[in-house]
Amino acid sequence: MSGPKKKGRYRPVLLFFFVLCGVCLFTVLRPGPKTEFIMEHTPLETGFTILESGSPGKTVLVVGGVHGDETSGWMAADQLKKRRNLKSGTLIILSPANAPGSKNGERNVEQYRDLNRSFPGDKNRDLTDRLAASIFLKIREYSPDLVIDLHEAYREGTGRDFLGNSLIITDSGTIDQLIFDLIVESQDGTLKTSAPFSCYNGTPAGSLNRTVTETLGIPAVTVEVSQEEPLETRIRNQLAIVNRILSYYSME
Ligand SMILES: [Zn+2]
Repeated sequence: MSGPKKKGRYRPVLLFFFVLCGVCLFTVLRPGPKTEFIMEHTPLETGFTILESGSPGKTVLVVGGVHGDETSGWMAADQLKKRRNLKSGTLIILSPANAPGSKNGERNVEQYRDLNRSFPGDKNRDLTDRLAASIFLKIREYSPDLVIDLHEAYREGTGRDFLGNSLIITDSGTIDQLIFDLIVESQDGTLKTSAPFSCYNGTPAGSLNRTVTETLGIPAVTVEVSQEEPLETRIRNQLAIVNRILSYYSME
């Protein structure tokens, strides 16, 4: 009689170690982040960081620092590279897209060339065109379900369009519900952004957003956060939008 009782006492302990081994094995086998570099051996070298959850799902591609002086864009995107808790799908991050611009606090890649007016680029032309082409071809290869491009809106009175905190889209076709949810939740406080977001239709020719939407059929959202607000607030707003999009797609 005492034999079976003893065995029974150890059963929970064995079960505990069995579960523990399973968790360890899952952690070890789960693929780590990898980086695929573009423009290697040039001053514009940068890379796409690929975070795979190990479970099927959507692919979302986040770009930060197309405009190097829009600091919160690439800082928020850099923070996303540290994510290890994806529930499904794949998160791909390009940051900073304009590496020398982000280092020197400059908008453009070369003095007069705006990367966000240069897509889809050209591998045989100058550095800005080559960078645009490298980014465009990688996005075509990854074929994500959504591209998110993180930017900053200029202060009012700087002689440029004042956009404030806003989302910009070329064609809302397949992402209507997502955009609606983001706008409503930024207004009712669920999103915890510092202020409500507006939504604008219309993107400039040669921008990443318009090019991937029109030539690849991949929907894109440009996130503009207001430079009227402190850097920490701008980063928080960028991440609030990206996190909500990831949860919308059940990725976290
Ligand atoms: Zn910008």
